[in-house]
Amino acid sequence: MARGHRLRDAVLQPPTATRQTGALIVGGGISGLSAGWWLARHGYDDFTVLEMDDVPGGNSRGGQSPTTAYPWGAHYLPLPGPEAVLVRELLAELGVLQGNPSAPRPTYDERYLCATPQERVYRDGLWEEGLLPHRGLNAGERAQQQDFQARMDELKRLRGRDGRRVFALPMALSSADAEWRALDRLSFRQWLLDNGFTAPTLHWLANYACRDDYGCDYAQTSAWAGLHYFACRNGEAGNAASDTVLTAADGNGWLVHGLAKVVGERLACGAAVVRIEEGTAGVSADVLIGERMVRYQARQLIWAAPAFVLPHAWPEMPGELKAAASAGDYAPWLTANLHLSSWPEERYGAPPAWDNVFYDSPGLGYVTASHQLMRRHQDGTVFTYYRALNDVTPAEGRRLLLETPREAWAEGILAELERAHPDIRRLVTRLDVFRNAHAMRRPVPGALFDGQRERLANFRHPRIFLAHADLSGFSLFEEAQYRGVVAARRVLAQVGRTAQMPS
Ligand SMILES: Cc1cc2nc3c(=O)[nH]c(=O)nc-3n(C[C@H](O)[C@H](O)[C@H](O)COP(=O)(O)OP(=O)(O)OC[C@H]3O[C@@H](n4cnc5c(N)ncnc54)[C@H](O)[C@@H]3O)c2cc1C
Repeated sequence: MARGHRLRDAVLQPPTATRQTGALIVGGGISGLSAGWWLARHGYDDFTVLEMDDVPGGNSRGGQSPTTAYPWGAHYLPLPGPEAVLVRELLAELGVLQGNPSAPRPTYDERYLCATPQERVYRDGLWEEGLLPHRGLNAGERAQQQDFQARMDELKRLRGRDGRRVFALPMALSSADAEWRALDRLSFRQWLLDNGFTAPTLHWLANYACRDDYGCDYAQTSAWAGLHYFACRNGEAGNAASDTVLTAADGNGWLVHGLAKVVGERLACGAAVVRIEEGTAGVSADVLIGERMVRYQARQLIWAAPAFVLPHAWPEMPGELKAAASAGDYAPWLTANLHLSSWPEERYGAPPAWDNVFYDSPGLGYVTASHQLMRRHQDGTVFTYYRALNDVTPAEGRRLLLETPREAWAEGILAELERAHPDIRRLVTRLDVFRNAHAMRRPVPGALFDGQRERLANFRHPRIFLAHADLSGFSLFEEAQYRGVVAARRVLAQVGRTAQMPS
């Protein structure tokens, strides 16, 4: 926070050293690392990735303790569908997708396929298997659940007038059919009501999905984005059910490490880019490394940090781009890692799962970091708790994150978890809280196809290229990776190298 705000508050000093690089990539999250991965893969070695934090990964970073590794943010990747060719290529390179990356139903390394049970939901004092509650529902509600599922299956296959799937992942490959894009102007809640879906458990599921993936209440989420969540994922595996996710103890941290390994020593952490300026032959970037300011001279620059930071760093940026970069708002998030000395007592119902969701709670629930570990004996574990601050405005959420002491968050989290695990307080040996004030751009109604997001995604400049999931309007691994690779391709094209996107 201090480093980021230092950039915002423009406390700058003149550089004391200069370094040269071919392409400078700002941001060591998934998009920046993916840009580096793509450049390295195509033999363009003269690049540097600068990450403000002390570790790479951004929202996908993980942590480690003697008990287990654990996530701090992103924690799963759905099985990649046919459009997610880049995800498949990466997974094949990491040895997790085995055999032909284009196979309709590839085989995956079992260690990364989420072990069953994958999820359960805690409702009215009982754990139920799966995510959609089914206990004690009347026939009408059950019928609506089935209708909704059938409708989503239909939308998964549906193509627009241009022949593209209506909801593809990455989203840039979706149909541009105006009839479907018009859904962006509606809220997801309104879409459900307009389509006769009134069942409380369905509304809960839709709201949960938006809070979980977008950090937004479903009444404030674009219907296009809400439907995208349910209809875009069409991956299959030869050795797992299609709704299985890929995960590891550190969530998506293993993907960060895989990408960072390719980038290698070209990645520098603890380096915040505070100012960029175009020159006649390239771009210069002033970078705060500890208390020193270092000037990087580069031929090209990829901005793979959040869009809202760019106007602070690039005073000369074109006005239209500035407006687009500042247009969206960001969802604030709270995550916490709770170290437990042993497994807590269980209330009744379904057994512990990887993802343990709360039906009626401020938090979304928790993921068990040790779920994928194949140890015969494991005393302790780590629960990763998630909460999007979607019940207040983003500005209010940020204020709460800033002003509420850790102890108050810890107490709230324990009170929530205690409902399902009565002895949890006694077992917690450590509770770390992570405040993420600008976690992800919110796909509120109108945000995806109102022109501003497209302006970011289609920005063309001879030397400065944009990456980051913000260009998609919502944040997912697939979106960040795609945007990073597209920026890297533009860099390669500038230097006369063309790299085909795998298809
Ligand atoms: C709590 C949470 C849970 C999530 N769960 C999932 C999940 O399960 N699956 C999934 O697919 N996605 C999930 N996501 C979305 C996640 O954001 C994306 O998967 C992905 O990590 C986004 O990558 P990015 O590169 O676009 O952005 P970021 O992660 O925002 O990366 C940008 C990087 O730029 C750095 N930076 C910023 N300013 C500067 C500067 N001036 N100089 C240098 N560096 C700078 C930042 O420190 C950061 O590391 C989750 C997000 C959150 C917050």
